[in-house]
Amino acid sequence: MDMFIKGATILAIGGAHGFEPFTGDVHIQGDSIAAVGPNLEAPEGAKVIDGTGKLVMPGLMNSHLHTNEALFKGRYDSMPLEVWMLYAYPILAAKPLPPRLVYLRSMLVAMESLKTGVTCITDDLYESPRQEMHLLGAAVDAYDDAGIRATVSAHVVDKNFLDTIPFSREHVPQHLQEEVAKMPPVSISDYLSFVKDAHSRFHGRSGRIRFMLAPSAPQRCTPELMLAANDLAKDWGVPFHTHIVETKVQGVTGPVMYGKTLMAYMNDLGLLNPWTTIAHSIWVTDADIELMGRAGVSVAHNAISNQKLGAGTAPIRKLLQAGVHVGLGSDGISTNDTPRMFDVMHTAGLMHNVNNPDWSRWLTASEVLHACTLGGARTALIQDQIGSIEPGKRADLLILDMETVSFTPLNDIRNHLVYCENGSSIEKVIVNGEIVVEDGRLTKVDEKALLAELRAAMPEFLEYHSGVEAANAQFEPAFTEIIKRCYGHDLGFTRWASDLG
Ligand SMILES: [Zn+2]
Repeated sequence: MDMFIKGATILAIGGAHGFEPFTGDVHIQGDSIAAVGPNLEAPEGAKVIDGTGKLVMPGLMNSHLHTNEALFKGRYDSMPLEVWMLYAYPILAAKPLPPRLVYLRSMLVAMESLKTGVTCITDDLYESPRQEMHLLGAAVDAYDDAGIRATVSAHVVDKNFLDTIPFSREHVPQHLQEEVAKMPPVSISDYLSFVKDAHSRFHGRSGRIRFMLAPSAPQRCTPELMLAANDLAKDWGVPFHTHIVETKVQGVTGPVMYGKTLMAYMNDLGLLNPWTTIAHSIWVTDADIELMGRAGVSVAHNAISNQKLGAGTAPIRKLLQAGVHVGLGSDGISTNDTPRMFDVMHTAGLMHNVNNPDWSRWLTASEVLHACTLGGARTALIQDQIGSIEPGKRADLLILDMETVSFTPLNDIRNHLVYCENGSSIEKVIVNGEIVVEDGRLTKVDEKALLAELRAAMPEFLEYHSGVEAANAQFEPAFTEIIKRCYGHDLGFTRWASDLG
């Protein structure tokens, strides 16, 4: 049935009105937006939604997420990436999870995302100890059932973990190095047949699910695997999604391991392309930024995660000026313990002011909104399908009540969305022309029952995971030494807001 939203305030983001709110109607036909504008004629038999006092805007886009961390929500605090990873991405002692737990874990994130206005996620999905088809399928089933739009990956590392961290051979005790060596990484041919199978099974399902390629990071994968993945990404028209220079340790990794920055290394391999999406991009040099702009890559900026891990501040203004496409991400649900993108927008709107006294370079609310909608869609290569309210685009949109505390008194709607609203004004969430959240309730799944089932499964999981943590804690003293050694390495620039201590 057609839907017709009548007399609402519309923030279209794209099209003629752009970031200027206007009063008008939205006609939704099937999974798409048929028309937008003032004084449209409601089609006969359409479900008419009164837009008086309501704001209609595109659904939010989460450009970088690892749902596999969701079972660790609220578990870790005050650790830098390289220490935290020992526990959340264990090197030793991990065993595959039951598929139902993977389903519930993915569903948990999908449910919170939808209820807080996130209609599309990019889930860079990692499984310990390795990805398996029935586990990837369980995650896809959850997104399909919840009604969210999702691009999923099979995150891959094909190097011995110790060879991905500078100086590790000098600091990690020999007996632990031998333990790690007992686990051979996946072969390139096994990886390629896995992703081809995954693409044919999942890509295009329900008109909402896509599959992308995600080699973890240049220092964590062989050039052969990355080049093969890049060819598939190009052929399939999907992102090559990776992580580059999130932390200072990673900033040091390029010069120490390859004699050049990791971005220059990627560029020399031909791996910076319009379909390349880079998570973080914090410890980049000005020359790196120029390479990125020239190649037309995308960056997923994870404003909260970067602060939780003390990773540094991505130079977003410089990246935008160079022509890099910018989206916003929550990152994993342990380095940012929620997938709420209103929180990420709020943080992204503020954090760049602190380390730059030149206020002409601060991000505006419209720039932040763009990154969380149309810019985010570009990072997933679906900017022609979602991210704005324009005829022909998929109907992924939010209806917010503007008579709430967040919008009273009402001044500039864009500022309210970034600095006042937290998702609590959302009345309806529509994905692919279907109402998936109505008055705070998910329409396609039983949230209460799913949460109860997950709670019941947690004691057994946490007992197992405590053992994994104990096995991996053995690495922490060596990793602490490595981090401090890297922090003392002079890169000639810094991405910490302040070195004043
Ligand atoms: Zn990540």
